[in-house]
Amino acid sequence: MAEQVLDRIKQVVGPNGWLEEPRDIEPYEVETRGLYHGKTALVVRPGSTEEVATVVRLCAEAGLPIVPQGGNTGLCGGGVPDEDGRNIVLALGRMNKVRSIDPANFTITVEAGVILADIQRIAAEHDRLFPLSLGAEGSCQIGGNLSTNAGGVQVLRYGNTRELTLGLEVVLPDGRIWNGLRTLRKDNTGYDLKQLFVGAEGTLGIITAATLRLYPKPRATATAFVALPDTDAVMSLFAQARAATGDQLTAFELIPRIGLEMAMKHVNGVVDPLEQPYETYALIEVSTASPHGDVGATLEGLLAEAFEAGTVVDGTIAASGAQRDAFWLIREGMVEGQRFEGGSIKHDIAVPVASVAEFLKTATAAVTERLPGIRPVAFGHCGDGNIHFNLSQPAGADKDTFLARWEEFNDIVHGIVAGLNGSISAEHGIGRLKCQELTHYKAPIELELMARVKQALDPKHIMNPGKVVAEAAFNALKG
Ligand code: FAD
Repeated sequence: MAEQVLDRIKQVVGPNGWLEEPRDIEPYEVETRGLYHGKTALVVRPGSTEEVATVVRLCAEAGLPIVPQGGNTGLCGGGVPDEDGRNIVLALGRMNKVRSIDPANFTITVEAGVILADIQRIAAEHDRLFPLSLGAEGSCQIGGNLSTNAGGVQVLRYGNTRELTLGLEVVLPDGRIWNGLRTLRKDNTGYDLKQLFVGAEGTLGIITAATLRLYPKPRATATAFVALPDTDAVMSLFAQARAATGDQLTAFELIPRIGLEMAMKHVNGVVDPLEQPYETYALIEVSTASPHGDVGATLEGLLAEAFEAGTVVDGTIAASGAQRDAFWLIREGMVEGQRFEGGSIKHDIAVPVASVAEFLKTATAAVTERLPGIRPVAFGHCGDGNIHFNLSQPAGADKDTFLARWEEFNDIVHGIVAGLNGSISAEHGIGRLKCQELTHYKAPIELELMARVKQALDPKHIMNPGKVVAEAAFNALKG
């Protein structure tokens, strides 16, 4: 039966639309950090929405589970199949057309497989900004960004992917196509259905296209790399930055010394912009689309005020585009650098902005007490309350022994997050990695509502099973 269905799927997508040789499908089976290595009999690469719809209908009829996959840069194992080999992978990379761009309406309509950096580039060619920006932007796809509700470095100014979405086209789990590609900013005609699919991580349907918001392209940008006296100063500086820059604050990234050192050690071209070492840094960026705004003066004013208040003890403003790139290379290089320092237990958490400093202190003390020598690398988009609280293994420790304690450290860190009314997943999603854990942190009524939505849209559970909504959540629907 399954063999026959797979043959029919191959006919639907044609010879360029599927892969089954082990060496060809392996990249689709492995999660980007190597945490999961699943198995699939077939990778389908449809070239159109109609092909996606037919493939999904065939799978629904046969009860074959589907894992949608974009650029496979997701960090929660949502985009890779599980180990039993029954899932087929539906990769959207061939659906990479820009269907239309309307600069006057500040919208662009793209297929799901368009690479994020390409959308940014095409928007810029039309004197517009698509503000979603993250380290994986050269390989992640907009369908994956939508499905994970990706955040990135400019959320505090422009919002996350959810807020950048005006309309969607989705293939539903029974193979029907919902064309919700609206370009409206105002549309109060009942439930906002598109928002169900944003952040659903492929569990409710396959996003095949989206209409996205564009913004005026910034005319001027100013970027500073500053040292702070301690982590207590982080959010005071953030408050000052907001007050001094109005709506021009675009990024506010926390960078710890240990992260800078890891980046300098392992990533080409990363240098410390300051002469003295400090424990805590922030990368601050302001920008304006107005031809009259002087963001350089605004940033200088902010730093003068911060020096006087003692929230900044050293710092420098980028004097050129190259220097700005060098500051951002530190931010991105920290992620890369950690990979060379042995095992790293990751946490992508959010707490209310007012609790960021408390979280940093409490969580650092708790993990250090549990394992002396552990190396917390706490960094990220803390202007929106999001901290990547990654724990590098003690220098010289055994990697596997350390990684075996993943759940133990999750419990410690996520317990503190829950106590501060935070979230155990700020921007990476749930996928497989946090599926079970979510059942401890979501209220039973929320889990039940999630299970009801899933059950209503995908009663056969063929869309990315085992991700986001744990099987246990469906128990509440029985009886
Ligand atoms: P994939 O990894 O392929 O898939 C992710 C999930 O979406 C899976 O559950 C998959 O099944 C589902 N999916 C994919 N496409 C579709 C579709 N068309 N329809 C339905 N479901 C679909 N994330 C952030 O939010 N902010 C960051 O700053 C950030 N920085 C990163 C930096 C690096 C170096 C890396 C490696 C990752 C980073 N990420 C970040 C995580 C990742 O890039 C994002 O989650 C991204 O949105 C995933 O896109 P993708 O195309 O790779 O999706």
